[in-house]
Amino acid sequence: MGAYSFVDLLRHAFLGPDAAKRAWQERPLKDRYDAIIVGAGGHGLATAYNLAARHGMRDVLVLDKGWLGGGNTGRNTVTIRANYLREESIRFHAEGLKLWRELSGVLGYNVMFSERGQLDLIQTWAKLRDVKRRQSTLRLAGVPFDIVSPAEAKARVPILDLDEPKRLPVLAATWHPTAGIARHDAVAWGYARAASALGVNIVQNCEVRSITRAGGKVAGVETARGRIAADKVALAVSGHASVLAATADLRLPIETVPLQAFVSEPLKPILSCIVNSPAQVYLCQSDKGELVIGGGSDPVPSYVQRGDFTTIERVTAHLVELFPILGRVRMLRQWAGAIDLCHDTSPIVSKTPVEGLYIDAGWGSGGFKAIPAAGREFADLIAKDMPSDLIGGFALSRFERGRPLYETAGASNRD
Ligand SMILES: Cc1cc2nc3c(=O)[nH]c(=O)nc-3n(C[C@H](O)[C@H](O)[C@H](O)COP(=O)(O)OP(=O)(O)OC[C@H]3O[C@@H](n4cnc5c(N)ncnc54)[C@H](O)[C@@H]3O)c2cc1C
Repeated sequence: MGAYSFVDLLRHAFLGPDAAKRAWQERPLKDRYDAIIVGAGGHGLATAYNLAARHGMRDVLVLDKGWLGGGNTGRNTVTIRANYLREESIRFHAEGLKLWRELSGVLGYNVMFSERGQLDLIQTWAKLRDVKRRQSTLRLAGVPFDIVSPAEAKARVPILDLDEPKRLPVLAATWHPTAGIARHDAVAWGYARAASALGVNIVQNCEVRSITRAGGKVAGVETARGRIAADKVALAVSGHASVLAATADLRLPIETVPLQAFVSEPLKPILSCIVNSPAQVYLCQSDKGELVIGGGSDPVPSYVQRGDFTTIERVTAHLVELFPILGRVRMLRQWAGAIDLCHDTSPIVSKTPVEGLYIDAGWGSGGFKAIPAAGREFADLIAKDMPSDLIGGFALSRFERGRPLYETAGASNRD
């Protein structure tokens, strides 16, 4: 699915880059659309693309209050994995991994997916019990996940220090070979380009202030540029889901907290896989050589996209304890995103009690990996008004029914 024709390529070759088309188009706003998606992050754009590509719904508007991919999609640390605990999560993310492998080909755009494996360090007996349980459920689902010795962990990650005494010793590790990373903004751009080529309109700098209703059903949205009508409105606004849902009198079981990340100066290749010390620090090395580093979320709920200093201190202390060789590496920059957490740490991909209003939220620290599968399944839900088996467990109604989906390897349990 490419947005450029052979003629475009010739024009580009002979007339220079000024003649090249923009990757996606922003068309004038109309008064009404078949569907409006709020949020031009990975989830919103993938949903719009799938509505057009799978269901022929091309009269679709995607609105963003900022710039495309400027939310958590452009702020995350790009870990993609399927080593979850609950059957619902494992099935969903295993399907997601399949879609990631095909994504560049499907979009005609290189999202730089690279399968490099994830090593989780096990530093408490409780965590060791937990991963033994996970290993059994993952085996049943056919997802590769092994428990390995500290020596095997060191062989995979030579910069890991096992000699000096640690506050928490490395007791074992898990190896999930099919985990990987991708280039985050390429994912947003690739979906935007493919959706735009199918007729989807993507409008930036247009905040949605509220959801409008008539007779208990969705009627559209009130935006910074006026009212726009639609029979179907879908929210994919990550940390801002509860604020927007409240404008339709919907209270979501979501808390918003800042999650920080840092990136180091570029280094020679020293780390070939993702390493995670759960809830403490995790890192991988980008193709540019930078170490991409994250840790636990900030302790206090907030919508700020900065993060507090104590978290930086805590994460870097763990980093240097496990990898003393990194003690003198300089950091290039630090940032945060506002993540949305459900108390059971599983997401919500669901219809709502308001007819025509759909929600995709609560992915916490784990929604980047979900983009291809959530985009496809959310689009199917919006088009058919019926959840597929793959997202049935993520329905909002689970909280009303007292059936939360506790996921010890999910949302804010660190990627
Ligand atoms: C530091 C950090 C590290 C992370 N690491 C990982 C990781 O390693 N692996 C992983 O799988 N996940 C990770 N995540 C989580 C992941 O980034 C998110 O779950 C995912 O990107 C959510 O995508 P989205 O499209 O739903 O939201 P976003 O990309 O945040 O897009 C939502 C969009 O909605 C827009 N918006 C909000 N309110 C309005 C409004 N009122 N009107 C119009 N537009 C609005 C925003 O401007 C934004 O562009 C991390 C997150 C952070 C912050």
